[in-house]
Amino acid sequence: MINIHHSENQNRTLLQINRTKTLQIIRPIYSMGLINNLIAGFLDKATISYKTPLNANTFHIQLHSEAFRKVNHVPGYFVRIFVGKGKDLAFKDNLRSYSAWKLNKLNGTLELAVCTHGAGPGSDWAKECKVGDEVSFTWKKSNLVVDDAADNYVFIGDSSALAHLYELHRNLLKGKSVKSIIYDEIESNLFPDLDGSRPFHFHNIANAQSTTSILEMMPVLLEGVSSSNTIVYVAGDSRICIALNNYFRKELRWESR
Ligand SMILES: Cc1cc2nc3c(=O)[nH]c(=O)nc-3n(C[C@H](O)[C@H](O)[C@H](O)COP(=O)(O)OP(=O)(O)OC[C@H]3O[C@@H](n4cnc5c(N)ncnc54)[C@H](O)[C@@H]3O)c2cc1C
Repeated sequence: MINIHHSENQNRTLLQINRTKTLQIIRPIYSMGLINNLIAGFLDKATISYKTPLNANTFHIQLHSEAFRKVNHVPGYFVRIFVGKGKDLAFKDNLRSYSAWKLNKLNGTLELAVCTHGAGPGSDWAKECKVGDEVSFTWKKSNLVVDDAADNYVFIGDSSALAHLYELHRNLLKGKSVKSIIYDEIESNLFPDLDGSRPFHFHNIANAQSTTSILEMMPVLLEGVSSSNTIVYVAGDSRICIALNNYFRKELRWESR
């Protein structure tokens, strides 16, 4: 029996295998690649219907699937894509998460924006995949979903979070007050939303992995922002997310989900 649990963080993807006699016998004969491809067989299927570079480090990839017409979707959900097709990767490297940039149920299409600066299996998939390819995927729910409860919103993230933040922003009721910091070492890595709009403030920073640089921008960003009627969305590189979460919870004493 094989149980697979995916957490939001693919680094914590677990494969639990009951080490039965059968498994011990087949292990020397079958490669990890075969097991991985068997698992991909159980995932949902889509076809790549469009692909274009948004800039030197990001691809806009559109998936088409009849299943998208019926999916119960909340803006902020994401897909886990089987990026290891035809490759003999370690199990944890087979799946990568990509946010729904926009789901069009009428057309059965899902837009993704995939950055390649990670330079791992997800980036390789984004560079190598082409229109017509079959993609195995599964939907995942997220805590970072659209929530109209506040009047004020703050969006913070990097280029890999931009699709997610655009989707949340586009689905908020009109008339909300919005502040934002979207950062990258190369400003041209930051792309507009699907309709060409640029609702966020883009910042060019020297080191996108430096928690200090991001934290230093917070006092100015949060000037005049009250904690009582504000929702802050933080997404992107997990190291920065953790630092910001600590800053809001421990220093500013804001509630965190
Ligand atoms: C819920 C969720 C939604 C996501 N949505 C998107 C999305 O819409 N678009 C997108 O491009 N990515 C998104 N990601 C990130 C994506 O899943 C991969 O982690 C990313 O594409 C890198 O994969 P990789 O295999 O190329 O590199 P990995 O092998 O995963 O990583 C290689 C190296 O790159 C570093 N790295 C990974 N991600 C980042 C990052 N964001 N910033 C800086 N360094 C990084 C890692 O620390 C590691 O050292 C999302 C992640 C999660 C958890």
